[in-house]
Amino acid sequence: MILKKSILKINNLLLKKYGIPPRSESIPDPLDILIGTILSQNTNDRNSYKAYIKLKTSYPDWTDVEKLSQKEIETIVKVAGLGKQKSSAIKKVLTFLKNKRGRISLDYLNELDDSEILNELIKFEGVGLKTASCVLLFALRTNSCPVDTHVNRTLNRIGIVNSKNPEKTFVIINEPMPENIAHQFHTNLIRLGREICKPQNPNCKICPLLKFCKFEDKNLQNFNRDRKSTRLNSSH
Ligand code: SF4
Repeated sequence: MILKKSILKINNLLLKKYGIPPRSESIPDPLDILIGTILSQNTNDRNSYKAYIKLKTSYPDWTDVEKLSQKEIETIVKVAGLGKQKSSAIKKVLTFLKNKRGRISLDYLNELDDSEILNELIKFEGVGLKTASCVLLFALRTNSCPVDTHVNRTLNRIGIVNSKNPEKTFVIINEPMPENIAHQFHTNLIRLGREICKPQNPNCKICPLLKFCKFEDKNLQNFNRDRKSTRLNSSH
């Protein structure tokens, strides 16, 4: 109950700062999200998007990607980094679906509940809880909040979890997640983590969570004054 209230409080403060994040009206295909999220692991959005678009424009149908060798997929997606692991994971997902499900599609997930879906997806090589929960949130539109490094760092600093392990944090925060807020909570927390609560030198002075946050090493330097003095020094 306390955690649920804290999540609501954080969500409301983030909504005041950032508003409701936009959501596409068309619901993406779960397999597109799964493969896109595999490509996004340990790289930036720009490079993972480039790799995904290159794969999709070269082979719009996943059935054709499945016919490629792992090496051929690796060549196409190498801009996303970790090409060998990611191409191997993609090839194995597609081949599994073809051989065991008879169809290269994740539509069968629609018949399962959230925890069954997570269990199904994490059986795939290279698919952890974060990737699986992205499929839940973005393609199946369930109330599931993926926990990446930004979400884990900010929640630990704020003090509502005490867990170095994002997978453990995922379990802790998703059980009491209030209805219908996972998308805005997840998206706004990532934005906070990228723009304000950065790994080094969080800009606590402008943070909407400043009063609520329990982080002991808050960075409360006057950023305006610092910027001004940096400008003055650099002009000499
Ligand atoms: S107050 Fe500082 S440490 Fe706490 S969430 Fe905001 S930026 Fe992060």
